[in-house]
Order: sequence, then structure tokens, then C-alpha cells
Amino acid sequence: MLMTMTKDNLEIYGLLDGMHKSAECELNFGSPFELLVAVVLSAQCTDKRVNKVTQELFKYANTPEQFAAMPTEELEGRIFSCGFYHSKAKAIKELSESIIAAGGMPKTREELMKLRGVGRKTANVVYSVAYGGNAIAVDTHVFRVANRLGVADSKTPEGVEGQLMRNFDDELWSHLHHLLIFHGRYVCHSRKPDCDRCALTGKCKYFKENMSGSENQTVNSDYEKF
Ligand code: SF4
Repeated sequence: MLMTMTKDNLEIYGLLDGMHKSAECELNFGSPFELLVAVVLSAQCTDKRVNKVTQELFKYANTPEQFAAMPTEELEGRIFSCGFYHSKAKAIKELSESIIAAGGMPKTREELMKLRGVGRKTANVVYSVAYGGNAIAVDTHVFRVANRLGVADSKTPEGVEGQLMRNFDDELWSHLHHLLIFHGRYVCHSRKPDCDRCALTGKCKYFKENMSGSENQTVNSDYEKF
């Protein structure tokens, strides 16, 4: 649905887009199910590490049936380097069994969220990246950057998601999600935002309140906690 975005939000979107021309999902996948597995593995892990692990893992299993049949210890061994391998293996096994029970890979956000081991953020990523749906998955980067810029003001991921959905046209949601991730990953770092390299200083609430007129500095804010 086309809505009327504020001039500030339009400019912020345009500036982010100008800074991050290659913003897109950095996880490698060959099917929506592979993406779902990769997203589960990416919690508290870099996309680069996940890609390295899945490059090998998907040679052994890349369907719900194959993961459901794989012994848990074997799966844990194959995903060990992603960290939290016990809980991630459990989640992959459970979501595989849920998909088999459901008769196939779900295609809507609501159905994805019904899978065991799949939360709102994961469902949003798969829905938008694999199926081209409009959704904003709020991870730690999206949460921090949206609050710093002032395009959201909330202490919960759900609150940030709702505010971004209200403040931006729905056809921009998925790309906005990638832009905010790239900005958080490569410029607006958690402990020391690289404001000297940022085109958004004139629009950023956090810069105006904390960084304007001072040296770029290590910061400590509520936005780092999520
Ligand atoms: S001005 Fe600084 S704090 Fe604001 S978005 Fe840019 S890097 Fe982040």
C-alpha cells in the first residue's frame, strides 16, 4: 500500500540507499528451506562463517527429510563452528519435522511462524528474501540503527518493526531492512559508530544528541543491549 512518507524519512531512505548500493541478503542459499536453515545458523554468528558451513552442510542434507533423518550428533558436528550448536541443531531438526508434518515448506509469514524453532525475525527474513514478500526483520543492527537515526523509538524489536512499517511504504520494507543491516554492520557500529564516514549526520537523532561537535567516540547506549 502506498502511503505518504515524511520528507525526512524519504531522505533517510535515499541516503542509506546511496551509501549501500550492494545491500542484500549475504547468506548463500539455493532454496527457501536452505535459507531458513542458514538464518537459524546465523544467530550470533557472521554470515561469512554460515556460508562456509552451509557450503559443506548442504552437500549432505538440504531438505527437511534429510535433516530430520540426520543423527543429532552428526548435525551438531557439521554446524559446530557456528556456535550454539546444540540449540541450533535442535531448532533445525524441529523445524524440519514441522515442515514434513505441514506437508511442505510454508510460504506465508504466519505459516512460517508456526514452525517449531522459527521466530518472528527468521520468518520475516525468509518471507521477504526467499518469497519476495514485504517484511522487516529486526535484528540487532536494524534495532540499533533505526533507534539511533530516529526512524523508530522503541526498546523492543516488535516495537521497532511496527514503527518502521508505519513510517515507510511497504514496498520499501525489505530493502530498508537490508540497508539498515548494512549500515549497522559496516558504518554505524555498536560501540563506535563511524560517523565520519556517514552521510546521515544531518538527519541522525543520535548524532545530534551525542556526537555533534565532539570527536567520534566509543559510546554506551541502551541500543547496544539487544
Ligand atoms: S551519524 Fe553516526 S550514529 Fe548516526 S547513523 Fe550515522 S554512523 Fe550511526
